[in-house]
Amino acid sequence: MKKIVILGSGAGGTMCAAKLRRELGRDWEITIIDNDEMHHYQPGWLFIPFGIYTADDCQKPKRDFIPSGVEFVLDEVVGVNPDKRVVECKKGKYDYDYLIVATGCHPAPEEVDGLENWKPDPKANEQTFFTLESACALYKRMKYFEKGKMIFNIAEMPHKCPVVPMEFIFMADWFFAKNGCRDNIEIEFVTPNTGLFTKPIATKVMTATAEEKEILVTPNFDLETVNTEEKY
Ligand SMILES: Cc1cc2nc3c(=O)[nH]c(=O)nc-3n(C[C@H](O)[C@H](O)[C@H](O)COP(=O)(O)OP(=O)(O)OC[C@H]3O[C@@H](n4cnc5c(N)ncnc54)[C@H](O)[C@@H]3O)c2cc1C
Repeated sequence: MKKIVILGSGAGGTMCAAKLRRELGRDWEITIIDNDEMHHYQPGWLFIPFGIYTADDCQKPKRDFIPSGVEFVLDEVVGVNPDKRVVECKKGKYDYDYLIVATGCHPAPEEVDGLENWKPDPKANEQTFFTLESACALYKRMKYFEKGKMIFNIAEMPHKCPVVPMEFIFMADWFFAKNGCRDNIEIEFVTPNTGLFTKPIATKVMTATAEEKEILVTPNFDLETVNTEEKY
C-alpha cells in the first residue's frame, strides 16, 4: 500500500484529493489533514461587506466535499520530517510516500507599519475582507458609513485574488448610491500596480468606468506606513 498525505483541505487540497482518488487504484491510501471542520468559500467574502451574503452562506462542512475513499483527519499540522517521511500533528503522526502541501496563505495586515495592533473590529477605520471575521466586521462598518473618504489600498502584491479589489470599489460605488450617501463619500483606489488592473486592456476599460463613477485611481504607490490617529 502506498500512502499520499495532503495537508490542508481548502479548495486546493480537496480538488487534489478528488482527482487523485479518481486516477489511482485502491492500492493507494489517501489521507487529508485539516484543523478546521468548515470549508470556507473565500470568493463569497467579497459579498459580505455589502450585506449580500452572510457568514453562513460562505461556509459548509468540509466532510461534504471529501470523496469516499479518502480519509479526513481533523488535526493541526505542527511539522514535517522529510527524512523520515512523517507529518507531525498535535494529536498524532502520519507517515507518507508522497506529501502534498496545500495549507493556503493568510493575509497579515498587522505586518504593515502602523497596523501592528490590527484586528477585525467593526468600529475601526482600517478594514479588510480577506478573512471571514474581517469581512463580517467590515459589513458593520460599511452599513453605518455615510460620509467621508474610503481608500481601497492594495498593500502588496501578490494577493489572493487579482480582480477582487476592482470588484470591491465598483460594488462600494453601487452600495453607497443605493444607501443615498454616494455624493458624500469619496472613493480612491490606491495600488502598487501601474493601473487599476494588471492586464492592459481590462485596465483601459475599467479606468474609463472608474472615471465615469468618480472613483480616483492612484497607481504606482508603495505603502510604507499607516497613521491610524490622523487617518492617512
Ligand atoms: C475575497 C476573496 C475573493 C476571491 N475571489 C476569487 C475568485 O473570484 N476566483 C478565484 O479563483 N479565486 C478567488 N479567491 C482566491 C481563492 O479563494 C483561494 O485562492 C483559494 O480558496 C485557496 O485555496 P487553498 O486550498 O490554496 O487554501 P485555503 O482555502 O486557505 O485552504 C488551506 C487549508 O489549510 C488548512 N491549514 C492551514 N494550516 C494548517 C495546519 N497547520 N494544520 C492543519 N490545517 C491547516 C486551513 O484550515 C485550510 O482549510 C478569492 C479569495 C478571497 C480572499
